[in-house]
Amino acid sequence: MSNHDDLTRSTDNVVIVGGGLAGLFCALKLAPRPVTVISAAPLGQGASTAWAQGGIAAAVAEGDSAEAHAADTVAVGAGLVDATIALGIAREAGARIHDLLRYGVPFDRDLEGKLAVGREAAHSARRIVHVRGDMAGLAIMSALTEAVRATPSIRVIEGYAAEALSTGDGAVRGLQLRKVRDADARPVTMASGAVVLATGGIGHLYAVTTNPAEASGLGLAIAARAGAEIADPEFVQFHPTAIMVGRDPAPLATEALRGEGATLINDKGERFMLARHPLAELAPRDIVARGVFAEIAAGRGAFLDARAALGARFAEKFPTVHASCIAAGIDPARQPIPVAPAAHYHMGGIAVDAHGRSSLKGLWAGGEVSSTGAHGANRLASNSLLEAVVYAARIAEDINGSTIPVPARSPATATDTRNSAMPAQSEASLRAMMTSHVGVIRDGEHLAEAMRTFAAVERNAVNVALRNMAISALLVAASAWARRESRGAHCRIDYPAERPELAHRTRTTLAAAREIADSLSGRAAVRTPQPMIA
Ligand SMILES: Cc1cc2nc3c(=O)[nH]c(=O)nc-3n(C[C@H](O)[C@H](O)[C@H](O)COP(=O)(O)OP(=O)(O)OC[C@H]3O[C@@H](n4cnc5c(N)ncnc54)[C@H](O)[C@@H]3O)c2cc1C
Repeated sequence: MSNHDDLTRSTDNVVIVGGGLAGLFCALKLAPRPVTVISAAPLGQGASTAWAQGGIAAAVAEGDSAEAHAADTVAVGAGLVDATIALGIAREAGARIHDLLRYGVPFDRDLEGKLAVGREAAHSARRIVHVRGDMAGLAIMSALTEAVRATPSIRVIEGYAAEALSTGDGAVRGLQLRKVRDADARPVTMASGAVVLATGGIGHLYAVTTNPAEASGLGLAIAARAGAEIADPEFVQFHPTAIMVGRDPAPLATEALRGEGATLINDKGERFMLARHPLAELAPRDIVARGVFAEIAAGRGAFLDARAALGARFAEKFPTVHASCIAAGIDPARQPIPVAPAAHYHMGGIAVDAHGRSSLKGLWAGGEVSSTGAHGANRLASNSLLEAVVYAARIAEDINGSTIPVPARSPATATDTRNSAMPAQSEASLRAMMTSHVGVIRDGEHLAEAMRTFAAVERNAVNVALRNMAISALLVAASAWARRESRGAHCRIDYPAERPELAHRTRTTLAAAREIADSLSGRAAVRTPQPMIA
């Protein structure tokens, strides 16, 4: 699809932005209610979901329980997980896995025909449902894409990106879209009284990331620009074992490899995680990421060694990782794999309640772009697909139970319509600065410099996507600057300890982030910025 008229003629009530697990599942759950799904990339591409290798955490095995799953989630989240939310999600896991089975996802079974479950770091039980070893994401995307294409009530618009929300009287009235990769394209507006943002994460704001290019924080930025509250943006999870073979995004060596016994070694062959944590390679992700970062910073390098644990079984058990290694000339059955931490998952996002509602009337958010409180300062492995599917269903239920105002046919264009081609150098500089200044290890001075830069990019950029990237980058940097402690995935070398009095989630706005940046650059009257940790 689609021509300009097809878009502006729309009178659909519900518009879902994003074609990953959260967006597609929500659309399917809303059927037969008419919905429009907008996806910047063709369905199946440009979505982190398709790249998920581990699977979905669900306490479906005998002897496991939702309570145990929630307890593990709370333990990893470094004091910021909302325990009620975590338990609610864990309890709904079984039902959502069965929904996915009905949509055709071929989860692996054991010899008795029960769902097969794998183990991942910091889970106290084997509870990761998977597909053919490491193919869960691909299988989920292809089953849901097929189901969506076969559902007549779902209209899919591919190749358009949402770039702004239209608002009026404190509520969402529609959104502004633009054809992607076309600098001359005019924006088009769509009326809608119910918008669901399911645009994924922010990993691509970083130079080293496992996320697709579409995960560059645009959904987060447009919600923030419309005034929605943002929660916990400083908490970015870095995957400890991205495969370093010069690719952008970096291919991932799934955590399940370590679950199967692969170890982390340096160039001397030493297992450096043994000295850092009792669980060694299976310690929480933030600790492993910092361990890997430290070995690389010390010049010893970091490698994932699966020779003893998997050897010749590697190709069969982990076909995706195997293919990435072979393409780079590494045989993981016989050679250690070079790895480094990479921006992987955003615990923060658009603040939502238990129904997926944001602070802005008519705006829901689900999946990685949202922040429900389930992950706190650090996400437990394989909880994100679960959260996405649980909240997609809850949002659909909430929308079906709400009165959605009939949309005006032609909402006003939300922002100015200027655009230019994405300046590649500016984008690369922003991403490099996120990695060097707002990355695995942070400090106040570098965060302040990053904020001043991102605020200037926001003010001056003519390219709309770059401006939105700068907004999301600013939100992360400002909250990282304001949180003067180290907690979970947020590590400040100038404030290395956790501070009990700061054991609260962050709620912030774009206005608050801009205020901090302005105060640091002397643009505003100098005063101590409002603390954002609520
Ligand atoms: C390599 C990798 C492995 C992972 N492994 C696991 C795992 O094993 N288990 C687990 O639980 N989690 C895993 N995760 C995390 C998990 O995959 C994501 O958190 C989850 O898939 C997010 O789903 P989503 O629907 O929110 O977003 P996505 O699947 O990323 O989909 C976002 C969609 O929004 C579209 N989009 C973005 N911006 C716009 C815009 N402005 N306008 C229109 N469309 C837009 C994109 O094109 C895409 O269709 C992994 C992530 C990565 C990157």
